[in-house]
Amino acid sequence: MNVPFLDLSWQSKQIAGTLAPRWQAILDKTAYINGPDVKVFEENLARYLGVRHAIGVANGTDALILSMKALGIGPGDEVITIPTTFFASASAVAHVGATPVFCDIDPVTRNFDMAKLLAAVTSRTKAVIPVHLYGQPVDMTSLVSLAREKGLLVIEDACQAQGGEWAGKKAGSFGNVACFSFYPGKNLGAYGDAGGITTDDDEVAATLRKLRDHGMPRKYEHELLGYNSRLDTLQAAVLDEKLAKLDEWNGLRTKAADLYLSLLQGVASIVTYPQREGSKAVWHLFVIRVTDEAQAHGKTRDALAQYLNEQGIGTNIHYPYPLHLVPAFSHLGYRKGDFPEAESFASSILSLPIYPGISEEQIRYVADHVQRFFA
Ligand SMILES: *Cc1c(COP(=O)(O)O)cnc(C)c1O
Repeated sequence: MNVPFLDLSWQSKQIAGTLAPRWQAILDKTAYINGPDVKVFEENLARYLGVRHAIGVANGTDALILSMKALGIGPGDEVITIPTTFFASASAVAHVGATPVFCDIDPVTRNFDMAKLLAAVTSRTKAVIPVHLYGQPVDMTSLVSLAREKGLLVIEDACQAQGGEWAGKKAGSFGNVACFSFYPGKNLGAYGDAGGITTDDDEVAATLRKLRDHGMPRKYEHELLGYNSRLDTLQAAVLDEKLAKLDEWNGLRTKAADLYLSLLQGVASIVTYPQREGSKAVWHLFVIRVTDEAQAHGKTRDALAQYLNEQGIGTNIHYPYPLHLVPAFSHLGYRKGDFPEAESFASSILSLPIYPGISEEQIRYVADHVQRFFA
């Protein structure tokens, strides 16, 4: 049997019939840039998330950069995030001239350790970026109350959590702004690069709409030093078609995750992570961790990955290098040992295949081979 790490063709088949005439209409009108589908998608996304504004942009990284620009974050400001996220959560901070500050993770939630986050706040801290990593929403009740108490802005990185919820509210509806990536492999994924920003703040939304399009509220009226970071009309149509299926597809991911969890619960050499109480996880990734004890006995994460690969099973690591140790951030002065939980996490995690369209048989095959490896 073959179980690829990701299979996006299943999704494109589901929307092929309705997308084709929509794309043809865009071609007929040559509405490639700022076409009507962009607005339609933005309105549908805002309604789905329960926010006032959704602003389409070119990708998730730009969503983060433009958000920080719109909130006035820049040189002299510190912005705190976790070292176990994707590079862009922190590189965006550096791109606006601010300083990324990392704090260690709680190994149980795999996210902010709230006490360590609090300890990382200084007089220069301007904002915090909670990342809804792997589709598991952060405890936004605690995070928002901490941010309020300390007077910090909240920029949600919801790039991996389209449709996820905390306390019955959608990920992407808590922060001053929230950032989404619609990279093809995300839960809501385009046929190329795409991204979006959500906010309830009318003024920030107006600034963002200018920033993404050369600072123009109207053609050639350049009020701000903006960027070219628009959402393509063709991608907006794809995303609008897929948004209508998102809940159903997230449901399929949840079914797959539940099956993995039940099949793997007896494997003593790994740690699995059920949905956190109070949340609705959307299982962007299914990440397991190999215990220190198993690793010490030669049953390492890398050996597991290689074994699964030999059985025709694709795996991945999200992410192998904690960000405080990557060369691009060497100027920040962090050293190995600064965040022991994050470092040991990165050296022991493995992402197993999960996506809408994966079969029960495929999941059983993967779980069976994980079991066999440790037997
Ligand atoms: C994908 C991702 C991004 C970046 O999005 P792009 O669209 O690839 O620029 C940022 N943060 C996280 C957590 C992501 O998963």
